[in-house]
Amino acid sequence: MKKILVVIDMQNDFITGSLGNDACKAVVPNVLKRMKTARKEGWHIICTKDVHEDNYLETGEGRRLPVKHCIRGTEGAELIDEIKNLEDEWNNYSEVFLKESPLEKSTFGTMELAKVLAGYEIEEIEIIGVCTDICVISNAMILRSAFPDIEVSVNEICCAGVTDGSHANALKAMEACQINISEH
Ligand SMILES: [Zn+2]
Repeated sequence: MKKILVVIDMQNDFITGSLGNDACKAVVPNVLKRMKTARKEGWHIICTKDVHEDNYLETGEGRRLPVKHCIRGTEGAELIDEIKNLEDEWNNYSEVFLKESPLEKSTFGTMELAKVLAGYEIEEIEIIGVCTDICVISNAMILRSAFPDIEVSVNEICCAGVTDGSHANALKAMEACQINISEH
């Protein structure tokens, strides 16, 4: 049985790049701290990456959000260095990350994440990362529906939104759908 920590879209463009903001920057230490405690507690980790192609502005998401981000091959699409360093360090001596990590997705939520996790015996899922009100909530709702009998939680101190208000709204919406909102 595996406890899974899902780390959503901790990529340069969402932290310091084209869609970054101060709240996302400020949450980085909490995300790293949680990843480290999760590892100590024997959790397994899967990171997701939002990855778009050069034609982003012509995609459905791009027409509605015309800000180029996470274009394949650019620095903005990479996971932040702090997480890449952890991956290097940990993969040297243990299998902390699921082999499917980082999982690429072409828009907010991905059915692929549920499919990958369905291949493991999952005991519990915790979700952290950015942005609470877009990609965290989209994937949390998919996982909540895909795994109705296990605990799915979102760790609010390890998430940040587009604005503080939209972050708070998303937490309320997830709580209403039986996603446990935790802080640790
Ligand atoms: Zn995107």
